Amino acid sequence: MAWTAPLRLRLDMDALAANWRTLDAMSGTAACGAAVKANGYGLGARRVALRLAAAGCRDFFVATWGEAAALADTGVTLSVLHGVRDEDMAVARAAAHARPVLNTPDQVRRWRGAGGGACDIMVDTGLNRLGLSAGDIAGGLLDGLTIETLMSHLACADEPGHPLNERQRAAFASLAGKTRARRMSLANSAGIALGPDYAFGLTRPGLALYGGVPVPALEGRIAQVVFPEAQILQRRTVRAGQTIGYNATWTARADTEVAILNLGYADGYFRGFSARGWAVHEGERLPVLGRVSMDLVAVDVGTASALAEGDWLAIGYHLPEAAAVSGMSQYELLTGLGVRFG
Ligand SMILES: *Cc1c(COP(=O)(O)O)cnc(C)c1O
Repeated sequence: MAWTAPLRLRLDMDALAANWRTLDAMSGTAACGAAVKANGYGLGARRVALRLAAAGCRDFFVATWGEAAALADTGVTLSVLHGVRDEDMAVARAAAHARPVLNTPDQVRRWRGAGGGACDIMVDTGLNRLGLSAGDIAGGLLDGLTIETLMSHLACADEPGHPLNERQRAAFASLAGKTRARRMSLANSAGIALGPDYAFGLTRPGLALYGGVPVPALEGRIAQVVFPEAQILQRRTVRAGQTIGYNATWTARADTEVAILNLGYADGYFRGFSARGWAVHEGERLPVLGRVSMDLVAVDVGTASALAEGDWLAIGYHLPEAAAVSGMSQYELLTGLGVRFG
């Protein structure tokens, strides 16, 4: 007999595709790729990649060769953002569907020494995370390499007024023609909203594909994709004066009808939702009462009196709002989604 999980992720895959089309249109003449690292930001890299490939996406980004291997049979072309360590070389050389994004002079030498082949290059323009320096490029480090995409990454794209955005854009633009790269790429989701000067030849959204809204300019244009749902394990009446949950942080002022849901911080429903999150039933918000536990959370059933053990409830997970109330980033709310969802 098949076992069914008491919590599930409903994914709106049409919304995912619509978000990609929106970001593609906002990218103007630039191609629009998709970051599917971290298992497609927690949604399942395989189903995300296949759906976006069907929508027309041609450029996919993962962090590691393990993530690339997991997508080897999907037919999509991948760039591996963390490049190649010694330990990666055998796998990287054999991977017809994936190429490395080379980040350091050692990575460039390693790739070149093994015979090279198509690669991408990350250049640092101010994030000071991964990437070659402009000086490395001027010094001839890349001469003779077959470079598909020269890319850089923005530090403050979600702060549209931050002066570092324009400084990075200008530094990156000044590298045009300095390598034999076929195209250039700078913008993540928020970077796309900074305008056409940031699009170059290829954009690399992640968060906004999955319903994240990093900047006001994307509000109303990006649709929610992820809808967690959890089953009611018990319904109970909590009498006036009684408390709910660990540390008794919530006290009933009047007799209260409560549903205990099969969802907790081990599923990525973090403790920041304690007393602040909500479930939804027929348009009504049912507030979280007290602390979120590892596997359980209590909600006020309110006037939804027909709710019973075994019923399913949608969990409030509109990312900008859920991030604001929980204190987590929208990225963490996606990538934290646990493995217990059915
Ligand atoms: C994760 C990542 C992206 C996608 O960023 P979002 O903010 O999720 O749109 C793009 N480029 C690089 C290099 C990344 O690491």
